Amino acid sequence: MSNKIETKCIVEGWKPGNGDPRQLPIYQSTTFNYENSEAMGKLFDLEAEGYFYTRLQNPTNDAVAAKICSLEGGVAAMLTSSGQAANFYAIFNICEAGDHFIASTSIYGGSYNLFNVTMRKMGIECTFVDQNLSEEELGKYFKSNTKALFGETITNPTVKILDLEKFARVAHKHGVPLIVDNTFATPVNCRPFEWGVDIVTHSTTKYMDGHGVGVGGCIVDSGNFNWLEHKERFPGLTTPDESYHGIIYAEKFGKGAYITKATAQLMRDFGSIQSPQNAFYLNIGLETLPLRVERHCSNALKIAGYLENNENVAWVNYPELSSNIDYKLALKYLPNGSCGVVSFGLKGDKERSIKFMDSLNLVSIATHVADSRTCLLHPASHTHRQLSEQQLLEAGVAPDLIRLSVGIENVNDLIADLDQAFKGL
Ligand SMILES: *Cc1c(COP(=O)(O)O)cnc(C)c1O
Repeated sequence: MSNKIETKCIVEGWKPGNGDPRQLPIYQSTTFNYENSEAMGKLFDLEAEGYFYTRLQNPTNDAVAAKICSLEGGVAAMLTSSGQAANFYAIFNICEAGDHFIASTSIYGGSYNLFNVTMRKMGIECTFVDQNLSEEELGKYFKSNTKALFGETITNPTVKILDLEKFARVAHKHGVPLIVDNTFATPVNCRPFEWGVDIVTHSTTKYMDGHGVGVGGCIVDSGNFNWLEHKERFPGLTTPDESYHGIIYAEKFGKGAYITKATAQLMRDFGSIQSPQNAFYLNIGLETLPLRVERHCSNALKIAGYLENNENVAWVNYPELSSNIDYKLALKYLPNGSCGVVSFGLKGDKERSIKFMDSLNLVSIATHVADSRTCLLHPASHTHRQLSEQQLLEAGVAPDLIRLSVGIENVNDLIADLDQAFKGL
């Protein structure tokens, strides 16, 4: 369909027929009813499509996944219980013990721990790389058992922009898919598939939900990566699955293979489903996503400009500032705006930063980003406190970095609050 994204946010997903509920119903049911055992058996064998148990599929969740799939321009999508589950599944769907993948160092702290500690315990090794390396330098990290390359469109919390085309070229040259976490940009500001990315993940907890009500995640497949061309490297998709009577996902499901496997194996066995109730909230959030993202971006740009001109501020990092090192990448990949997150550091010591944060009234301190309320956080003492100084620096998180997540309040009220906190220093 040629609809623009604002329209898709409203009309995609749930398509009510004559006399159906206009708003997406919450199918609050664990199971689904069948009249004969053969119909049910076919579902279990993946021979027929339909619902039987909500751990595998639920109509509410499927409608919301279909909407996000359409927003990203993908061919198949699934919801997960959280962004963490989405990123874990996205990698684990094609990596097993003994395999290796490569990720940018500048990623969300939770993803860094997942890749660096927990997945390592499962026998999967991740090499972290500086995303600004040249194609040639990046290429040196690929090994015969490398299965994927991973990055974030806009990194959390450092708001760096990933050169998607460069990463896609390197990944494809080495016969692996590029997986990109598009949480901060959202498909409103960037659709990574248009730049060669193969698989997109989301923490829907952030802008998509937008109101801080439900934790959730999503994986979308572009359908563009040809698993059969790299048969040896991806046996999970190209050789028989013993737990489903020997079906070969890439042969049987074509472009839907990756998501079908993730649902049939990973969701079946790990069960990190999004509750239909949360999917319902997420769908309401998605309806207003383009309106909110536009306001987040315009507020953030004004605040970034205000901070840049404030004498108490040592540095400001916001990709849309013309002084920013990633400004050119932002113009290319995010011409309509990036996100509402601005990071900055104050002059003086840590105590001064803490005094500043504690004197804000409208702006709250919260371990959350990317929703309608403006909040801030000091990663070195909050989200990233498990990391050593060295790991912090490698992740590009300066010890004085304050992450300000700009909401959709009136921007002058926000600036007035920052102003009074600065005056109290
Ligand atoms: C928050 C976040 C995650 C993790 O998502 P949860 O929904 O909190 O599990 C992953 N990636 C990015 C970029 C995030 O901001």
